[in-house]
Amino acid sequence: MKILVTGGAGYIGSHTAVELLKAGYEITIVDNLSNSSIDVIDSIKEITNKDFNFYELDVKDEDKLNEVFVKENIEAVIHFAAFKAVGESVEKPLKYYENNLENTISLLKVMQKNNIKKIIFSSSACVYGDPEELPIKETAKLTTTNPYGATKHMIERILKDVYKAETDLSVIILRYFNPIGSDSSYKIGENPKGIPNNLMPFIVRVANREIDHLNIFGDDYDTKDGTGVRDYIHVTDLAIGHIKALEKANKDIGIFVYNLGTGTGYSVLEMVKTFEKVNNVKVPYEITKRRDGDIAACYADPSLAKEELGWVATKTLEDMCYDSYQYIINRK
Ligand code: NAD
Ligand code: UDP
Repeated sequence: MKILVTGGAGYIGSHTAVELLKAGYEITIVDNLSNSSIDVIDSIKEITNKDFNFYELDVKDEDKLNEVFVKENIEAVIHFAAFKAVGESVEKPLKYYENNLENTISLLKVMQKNNIKKIIFSSSACVYGDPEELPIKETAKLTTTNPYGATKHMIERILKDVYKAETDLSVIILRYFNPIGSDSSYKIGENPKGIPNNLMPFIVRVANREIDHLNIFGDDYDTKDGTGVRDYIHVTDLAIGHIKALEKANKDIGIFVYNLGTGTGYSVLEMVKTFEKVNNVKVPYEITKRRDGDIAACYADPSLAKEELGWVATKTLEDMCYDSYQYIINRK
């Protein structure tokens, strides 16, 4: 089966591409490399020893995208391509609405034109805003606190409307929690340009002495030790979740929403301590004030994905911390 992976040169897309190829799927990747590099495509081929076609294009470009669908005989789509930086989305909302919404609409139009019925979409736990109940179920109220999250919420809504009008589709919305870690080859991983916003890439740079300390954004939350709690999930577990979702899309028509998280929340301090222990390094930190827009705690109830997809996360926090650091060390 031939799968189009949009944004497949990115962090989660590249890991999913590896798992798809390992599972025997054929793939085509399209990516405009706005937040990734061409080397990743070679690394995916190297890791899997398999070949595939890559097209450097913007998913918003319907004509070029249509050519890819026709030429490659695409049968299903996994749609990762998006901008994802929460802070930047607050400063440049139009950039986010334009890219994330327009590229999805173009993609859906081209799918329609080519009679393609299966799509898996990368949503995010940020559609839950500041959750009223923990762990979070898929049925929780949706509310967003920044333009990035709003794009995810809006695209979910678009997908629901498109499904209502075209009821023979299989649409799977995956709400990711906090992906970290790297493929065990350490040839692909998360390597953001500039100063990282997210916790794990920041910790890794501090451990690697590229930044002198970590600022912990607040220790006065109503959590186990006062620091923020999140559901960190190994990116390979997350990638395998897409294989399970594809199996579901091949079996059932409908629109389905799943949380992909471990179900366990860890605090910032627990992350720092585990990282230090597993990697035998120091991560100096200072407690600073809360980050604007942050929430105290967010973790999934992943039981629906277990029940309906047969998917559970298997990697431990130790695995995640070890693999995140190994990728950076091996990159040097
Ligand atoms: P990433 O930035 O590493 O990958 C996204 C890829 O899409 C990049 O390679 C980028 O060049 C490409 N891209 C962006 N806009 C494009 C366009 N218009 N046309 C073609 N290519 C385009 O991000 P990621 O962490 O791999 O995230 C993948 C998806 O998962 C995104 O939709 C993101 O919003 C979502 N997500 C990520 C996280 C996370 O913490 N990483 C959490 C929840 C959801
Ligand atoms: N965090 C932190 N210092 C940093 C980056 C993040 O203390 O430099 C905290 C943040 O306040 C949150 C947790 O780490 O409690 C995870 O933050 P991240 O941005 O990775 O994920 P998100 O908040 O988007 O779920």
